[in-house]
Amino acid sequence: MFTIKNYINGGLVEPKGGTYLDNFNPATGQVYSKIPDSDRADVEQAVAAAKAAFPSWSRIPKEARSKILAKVADLIEANLDKLALAESTDNGKPVSLAKNVDIPRAAANFNFFATAILHYASESHAMEKGVINYTLREPIGIAGCISPWNLPLYLFTWKIAPALAAGNTVIAKPSEVTPMTAYLLSELCIEAGVPPGVLNIIHGLGNKVGASITAHPDIPMISFTGGTETGAEIARIAAPMFKKLSLELGGKNPNIIFANCNFDKMLKTTLKSSFSNQGEICLCGSRIFIEKPLYEKFKSAFVAATQLLKVGDPLNKDSDMGAIVSEAHTEKIMSYIELAKEEGGTVLAGGKRVTLPGEHQNGWYIEPTIIEGLGHECRTNQEEIFGPVVTLIPFDSEDEVIEMANSTRYGLSATIWTNNLQTAHQVANHLHVGIAWINCWLLRDLRTPFGGSKSSGVGREGGFEALSFFTEPKNVCINY
Ligand code: NAD
Repeated sequence: MFTIKNYINGGLVEPKGGTYLDNFNPATGQVYSKIPDSDRADVEQAVAAAKAAFPSWSRIPKEARSKILAKVADLIEANLDKLALAESTDNGKPVSLAKNVDIPRAAANFNFFATAILHYASESHAMEKGVINYTLREPIGIAGCISPWNLPLYLFTWKIAPALAAGNTVIAKPSEVTPMTAYLLSELCIEAGVPPGVLNIIHGLGNKVGASITAHPDIPMISFTGGTETGAEIARIAAPMFKKLSLELGGKNPNIIFANCNFDKMLKTTLKSSFSNQGEICLCGSRIFIEKPLYEKFKSAFVAATQLLKVGDPLNKDSDMGAIVSEAHTEKIMSYIELAKEEGGTVLAGGKRVTLPGEHQNGWYIEPTIIEGLGHECRTNQEEIFGPVVTLIPFDSEDEVIEMANSTRYGLSATIWTNNLQTAHQVANHLHVGIAWINCWLLRDLRTPFGGSKSSGVGREGGFEALSFFTEPKNVCINY
């Protein structure tokens, strides 16, 4: 059985403790590889390597760093099919999605920050009477990057690329649920000539490897994407150590549909924003608010379109949805469908597990599920489910829908469908979210600030915001 290794100081190494965890293929429910069950000792080894690599990596010209990162991007592109297959097998997502979205975006992340660093400049503030301030922005040291399982290589590289471009060295931990493409990335980094110790990838559990990275005194910044509770735990450890923290957390995103929208475009996109990646995208719109005059028309069209979605083998090109990432997550999603029924909801579509034939019979699959009849304040409409489950909620007015949309602890993203310009701007303005899409969803320009408000996160990633996070500003004031 294939065994993943850690990537430390430029080499692929066994975990010091010599123990391994099972890695499952969600499509079959079977163990298909082993991953290092690393611990503090492995993190210590990586810290020593990253520390030793920092002086030269932070001092080489940014053009040299840029070239190495661009080479990694080229190698990701050259290995598109292999990486897409690995991502699909590890995560359960349709291979077509991995091939069209996840892996190209991982290459784009490296390309984007390889070039962004060449254009990144700092400010100067001239004062009257011969005084000028200028801002130096310097790499800080070792960045700790911790990422989740839903968009494995996509989000892993979204952190690593800017941290490296800015001149830091990195200790990164992918999710133990989906480690495979991070391992393949370490092979590509060796091939690209990333100097030893500049990037180190440690595999293992959150409460061992993740916690050791978070608590390590020589890692002064943590960039984390994952659940809100984990984010709170990381902040509890890191904040008293005065570490820089970027937290990208959970969501319960509203999808707000006004009666005057472009119906066909909205319906097509709403299917995607509800069920892409089995609903396991932090930006999926899980609460669908529909203006009352459109409610019945939307409901019947949306239910009919949802029932046509094919849940199947992720490697089959015809599958619209693949497998749920793990058994535990499948059980969590199913428990929320039960909760929705207990709370008085009516299941309009889906609601059940899917059993596929043959080698997939023990895989973890759930039908795309639509529920109506629940108030906006019940648990189903307040808590993150993170699966193929959406609720329908009718509304009468802008004020009412804004209040309902803002009623959760989360504030990641929102989608608004309307052809009325004033409504579009007004609603976007009043929503407590980090990203509002109007008449589109998941349209991403990597230069824009990305992140959430309230319990959806602290700080922003993307563009120069990311380079600012991974550098320390110093104001120098000269009286000449
Ligand atoms: P998770 O919080 O369980 O795990 C995320 C990562 O943190 C994993 O690598 C895990 O091993 C690690 N971890 C766990 N406990 C830790 C600890 N005590 N200390 C340090 N690290 C620890 O999240 P998940 O289940 O992998 O991902 C799903 C969650 O991620 C959802 O809530 C989703 O909304 C969120 N998410 C947010 C964004 C965003 O951009 N805001 C993007 C994707 C996913």
